[in-house]
Amino acid sequence: MQRTRLFQLALGAVAALALVVVLGWLAWHRATVVYFTQLHDRGQNTLNLAEASLRGQLSRFERLPHLLADQRVIRSLVLAPRDPDLVVAANLYLRETAEMLGASDIYVMYRDGETLAASNFDQPHSFVGGNFAFRPYFFDALGTKGAGRFYALGTTSNKRGYYFGAPIEVAGQRHGVMVIKIDLDEIEQTWASDEVRIIVTDPENIVFLSNRPDWLFRSFGPLTTDRLSRTVQTRRYANAEIGQIDYTRDTDPDGFDLLRTTGNDGAALEYLVAYAKMPDAEWMVQVLLNTRPARVQAASAVALAGFSLGLMALIGFILWQRRRQLAERLAVQQAARDELEARVSQRTSQLAAANAALRDEVTERRATEDRLRQTQTELVQAGKLAALGQMSAALSHEFNQPLAAARNYAENAQLLLDRGRSAEAHDNIGRILGMIDRMGRISRHLRNFARKPHQQLRPVDLGDVIADAQELLGWQLARSGVTLHVDLGQEPLVVTAGAVRLQQVLVNLLSNAIDAIEGQEIKTLRLVGCRVGDMVELRVHDNGPGIVDAVQPRIFDPFFSTKEVGKGLGLGLSISYNIIRDFHGRISVRNHPDGGAEFTLCLPAAQPLPAQAAQ
Ligand code: ADP
Repeated sequence: MQRTRLFQLALGAVAALALVVVLGWLAWHRATVVYFTQLHDRGQNTLNLAEASLRGQLSRFERLPHLLADQRVIRSLVLAPRDPDLVVAANLYLRETAEMLGASDIYVMYRDGETLAASNFDQPHSFVGGNFAFRPYFFDALGTKGAGRFYALGTTSNKRGYYFGAPIEVAGQRHGVMVIKIDLDEIEQTWASDEVRIIVTDPENIVFLSNRPDWLFRSFGPLTTDRLSRTVQTRRYANAEIGQIDYTRDTDPDGFDLLRTTGNDGAALEYLVAYAKMPDAEWMVQVLLNTRPARVQAASAVALAGFSLGLMALIGFILWQRRRQLAERLAVQQAARDELEARVSQRTSQLAAANAALRDEVTERRATEDRLRQTQTELVQAGKLAALGQMSAALSHEFNQPLAAARNYAENAQLLLDRGRSAEAHDNIGRILGMIDRMGRISRHLRNFARKPHQQLRPVDLGDVIADAQELLGWQLARSGVTLHVDLGQEPLVVTAGAVRLQQVLVNLLSNAIDAIEGQEIKTLRLVGCRVGDMVELRVHDNGPGIVDAVQPRIFDPFFSTKEVGKGLGLGLSISYNIIRDFHGRISVRNHPDGGAEFTLCLPAAQPLPAQAAQ
């Protein structure tokens, strides 16, 4: 797997490299063609200028020999070639004309080739007396052509020149030749340039004009004896040594004419060639441009383009890489978000389920609470009935005793009245009334206790409730020998409560306290009430054994009792607790520092209403 991947990578790299090479080569080739075309255009312009200047220079002088040949002094001279006066006159005339025309030399040749007069007659290398019959311009002018032109290096002056020859005719006879030699050095100078080579070659392919001297009088390719003999015959290059230029020349596939040779320093040279033929003179004007700068430019352009492309590719790659990383990061973030959302929805559904379960539980609990409350109400009632039963047993004794006493008093009163002791009888009847009142009060409380409590809360005087409870438990207190201390302060303490139910609570607390202190030698019970802020506190303190630590947390639980069976149901404190809670109050218990248990009732205080309080 890994190897296949590596192979694929290598194959890809090779393919990419091949593509780069092919594209690079194509671009290089295209750039070369473009720069070569520019080079060629430049060469063509240079060629046009060079050819025009050369052609102009030649054409300026072309007709002049014919004009001069018609001059009388010239014609006279060829008729009398030995006449010194004519020679002098012709010399002077020719010098003057040459200066005027700007020609290098003007001279008259006799029909045998001897120079009769010349513009340079007074110069060291004067042509006068010289014979140039070997020159083509001479025999061409005398021959059928009727005009001669020739390029050559002067045999006398050793200066390059172009010669125009015209026959000197007198009465239809050709007696001599009129020759004008023009100097071509000036033209060479106007072609001076470091960038291009401008050369002019003769029919033998020998360079005779060049804007750079190194190629002058050098032949392209080897000089065969054939070629050399033709040059020697005309003595075109006098005694100058003809050199050789080794070269190859071909037209490349794009149509550029390329010439390759070796420089003086041995370095390979390549030239782009533009050329034009000058048929009149049988010359070839050639402009050679070094291709090196064009090739360097093409290579540089390709390198620059390649570099730019590479840079762009690199930037593109970096951007692509960044985008990819960003996309990856976004994908990771998206995945994290998705996961979070999934978790949230999962959690939400869990919470919804938990919520539903909770709601069910609440409903169930409410139902249970309702049931409990119902049961509690019933139990309260049952508790009350039980207390009533307990009390009625005790009360029957309470009632029976005064009833028996009242009966005795009544019988005694009867007897006393019969005996006329009315004062004593009256006293007995008073005692009977007192007992009846007491029994009436007890029966009223019992009625109240047995009745289902009034649900409505209203201001209740704490003192009254305590007094009622005290009265209810009077016989019990008296029997057990308990001393009860009540301290409610100066101000009446009024609480918001239900009088009967509060009384029930107090009766319960006091009964428990009486039970607790049963075994004590001195039995003391204290009821202390006071106002604390907007609450009223009532403390019930006994000097019993107090409450064991283990019992304390469960003391308000229903059916919790430490008493033996038949003596306590364990409902008293539980009912009390609920009653006090219904009053928006609190009930608590602690062991008093001085010993014994202390129950504290805390009830909302109310404004005292005298009428109600009295009731
Ligand atoms: P019961 O009196 O029927 O047992 P209660 O609810 O009234 O039911 O009392 C619960 C228990 O609290 C009692 O059995 C007793 O152990 C304890 N208790 C109540 N009051 C006192 C007190 N003043 N001193 C000590 N223990 C008490």
